Amino acid sequence: MSTRARQYDAEVLRRERLSEHLVRLVLGGAGLTSFVSTGVPDEWVGLVVPGQFQSRYYTVRSWDGSELVLDVVVHEDGLVTEWAQLEGAGSCVGQTVTLTEPKGSFAMPAGAAWLLLVGDLTALPAMARICRSVDVPTQVWAEVPDDLPDYLPSGTAVTWLVPPGPGQSRLAEVVEQIDWPAGDGYFWMAGESAQMRAIRKHLMRERHLPSSAYDVMGYWRGATQRQPRAVDPGPIWRAGKAAGRSDEQIWADYDEASKA
Ligand SMILES: Cc1cc2nc3c(=O)[nH]c(=O)nc-3n(C[C@H](O)[C@H](O)[C@H](O)COP(=O)(O)OP(=O)(O)OC[C@H]3O[C@@H](n4cnc5c(N)ncnc54)[C@H](O)[C@@H]3O)c2cc1C
Repeated sequence: MSTRARQYDAEVLRRERLSEHLVRLVLGGAGLTSFVSTGVPDEWVGLVVPGQFQSRYYTVRSWDGSELVLDVVVHEDGLVTEWAQLEGAGSCVGQTVTLTEPKGSFAMPAGAAWLLLVGDLTALPAMARICRSVDVPTQVWAEVPDDLPDYLPSGTAVTWLVPPGPGQSRLAEVVEQIDWPAGDGYFWMAGESAQMRAIRKHLMRERHLPSSAYDVMGYWRGATQRQPRAVDPGPIWRAGKAAGRSDEQIWADYDEASKA
């Protein structure tokens, strides 16, 4: 049996600037007709842009059966950052990209009484989808450089935080000061990798949470650190799942494999 992951060709139908640092890409076309969502609200795909072989990972902001939306953070410089903003003849609109099979990681236990979501701008698409999919009291901490008051569903309890500077985050410090609700709940967090590593330690050593009670994912690595090796999380994810490892253990394996 082939273990090769499925890939999809998709056309960039439209592009919309949601804010200074967030660009929405709407993908569609015949190549996406067989796309099937995992239904997991933080699901992501690998995006390979024309002329490249490396992928970058993006949350499926929405998929309605014909159009798939990705919200792309545009930061100082980067492969997708630059491609997504090209104007004129090189514009991404009308180009064909490749998407990898979607994967999801959010796994809130059935008995969870509350949900805490923490993330930066790269995590905002997932947090918006998660908020729509759950029916337990949810509190969000969003560290974003832009004003995006309508991005999360109306009525969401959210604390907006400003990043300390471009390409910087202080989410680990924020989480260490959270006043945790009583009882059993679920904690989901994504953003800059060093911040996420600090939080995993905090959750294990100070809060003594079982790994089933949280999901913490490094989505990108700050430019001041050594750059990660380009590691495709797909095979690590599949091998981890096949070995019965928890999502948390799989993300730690991914961080380890990405270390330069
Ligand atoms: C599961 C998963 C889901 C993700 N979902 C999203 C999503 O929905 N939207 C989204 O925008 N991103 C998302 N990301 C993060 C995204 O894959 C990375 O930010 C990616 O590196 C961006 O690619 P790039 O080509 O723009 O920059 P790259 O070419 O990868 O990096 C160039 C430089 O920019 C720095 N850099 C990378 N990302 C950032 C950033 N966000 N802020 C500041 N500096 C940065 C790098 O350190 C590097 O120095 C997700 C990542 C994962 C693993």
